[in-house]
Amino acid sequence: MDCIFCKIVDGAIPAKKVYEDEKILAFYDISPAAPVHILVIPKEHIESVVDLRKENVEIVSYIFEKIRTIAKDFNLDESGFRVVTNCGDDAGQTVKHLHFHILGGRTMQWPPG
Ligand code: IMP
Repeated sequence: MDCIFCKIVDGAIPAKKVYEDEKILAFYDISPAAPVHILVIPKEHIESVVDLRKENVEIVSYIFEKIRTIAKDFNLDESGFRVVTNCGDDAGQTVKHLHFHILGGRTMQWPPG
């Protein structure tokens, strides 16, 4: 499968890892949009939120549990941070492997562009 994030999971493409276990991987975004910009992905290839099924509920809640601990590790829990998942073309999803952006370390604007 021609998926960049699957290749990162397989080790075919290098990434600066923040956290890894058998189910998920967190790594620095190659093109950071904030002082802290980390991506958290399931190792299993799921294209986007649209493709989530009942059986994926566990992995999504697990990812959010890890997002909480990563945010704490990067001292974002008190200042605040944003969790974003872009879904489809209008949202600007460029990598078709479900991922959650953790963005922090600066004041954010709303609404996003
Ligand atoms: P999306 O636009 O929401 O799909 O986010 C994809 C993100 O993946 C972007 O922020 C990219 O900078 C990031 N990205 C693309 N390729 C790599 C890579 O090889 N390593 C780390 N991040 C990547």
